[in-house]
Amino acid sequence: MPNCLFCKIIKNEIPGSILYEDEEVLAFKDLHPQAPVHILVIPKKHFSTLNDVEIASTKIFTSLLQAAKTIAHQLGISEKGYRCVINTHPEGGQSVYHLHLHLLGGAQMGPSMVG
Ligand code: 5GP
Ligand code: ZN
Repeated sequence: MPNCLFCKIIKNEIPGSILYEDEEVLAFKDLHPQAPVHILVIPKKHFSTLNDVEIASTKIFTSLLQAAKTIAHQLGISEKGYRCVINTHPEGGQSVYHLHLHLLGGAQMGPSMVG
């Protein structure tokens, strides 16, 4: 999608601190971390919001969560705990319109670490 920030990171047009990549998913550090670990996990296919993932594409959720699980393990926070969040539309706190899952951890999570 032209002019999509995260599509540009996928295409290497702008830098991202990439931690994980597979055929469907890319994960990189959030530019403005709100926890000691704050990773964004995104599908390589552009979906603007969670609402835009049609039934035929829902296996992307498995890939996003599996990647989050793998990254949490690699970063050593699997057992202490972590949080996965998807913000949707303005009242959900979404600011970048390419579907992304926030992986947060490394500290005790409060009620509103994102948004
Ligand atoms: P949202 O508010 O849409 O749920 O999350 C968007 C996230 O993208 C925010 O946490 C914000 O810090 C992060 N972000 C915005 N611009 C960039 C960027 O250019 N690079 C990276 N790595 N993260 C970004
Ligand atoms: Zn995009």
